[in-house]
Amino acid sequence: MIIVLTGAPGAGKGTQADLLAQRDGYLKVSTGDALRKHIKSGTPIGKIADGIMAKGQLVPDDVLLKILETELAGTESQVVLLDGYPRNLAQAQELEKTLARYPVAGAIQLDVDRDDLISRISGRIVCAQCQTPYHATMNPPKKSGVCDKCGSTQLVRRPDDAPDKVATRLDVYDKNTKPVLDFYRAKGVCKTIDGARSTEEVYKDLKATIQDLSRSRAQ
Ligand code: AMP
Repeated sequence: MIIVLTGAPGAGKGTQADLLAQRDGYLKVSTGDALRKHIKSGTPIGKIADGIMAKGQLVPDDVLLKILETELAGTESQVVLLDGYPRNLAQAQELEKTLARYPVAGAIQLDVDRDDLISRISGRIVCAQCQTPYHATMNPPKKSGVCDKCGSTQLVRRPDDAPDKVATRLDVYDKNTKPVLDFYRAKGVCKTIDGARSTEEVYKDLKATIQDLSRSRAQ
């Protein structure tokens, strides 16, 4: 069963999905993380995605479908938190049709206003090894410059977190991804959570909402 986590870049989807995976045993699948791994390994998919991601635009739908088929394989009995997909209406429809063996219990939007998103992203750093996200002031690693999770000292700014790319990504979200919310709203399974609160407050709310959606789907 899939729970779609959606929200603009910087809304905290990755951080929250990591917390829910660590504390509650949910499985996190992030299409952005999967694409970055392909780029790092220099695969054919990585070569297609690299320039597109660097500009803050969307990678073609057929590439994403291949990635998702691989990432979801064998997860039929688990609750998967899907971070970063669907990013447009066509992807939402594809998930429902081609990937119907992974039913979507609902979508949860983390809502954060644009100014807040920009200030969050401007301080964001990630571990180049394991992708764990941090924020220079709001959520720094325990030891400066060292990843809490894997011990790597490669904490870097993502190339697409540069201010001009962020503006493009926020526009892409408004234009392409917001219609995905209407798609799930029409099915009565779209929830919105105020993502501007502390990490722990958002976590509690998110966990309860995931449990509600999973229960309703299972009934
Ligand atoms: P994220 O880590 O979710 O912010 O994704 C980083 C970038 O990966 C996006 O700006 C897109 O270029 C690409 N990407 C991730 N997921 C998708 C998707 N579902 N469809 C198209 N492009 C995607």
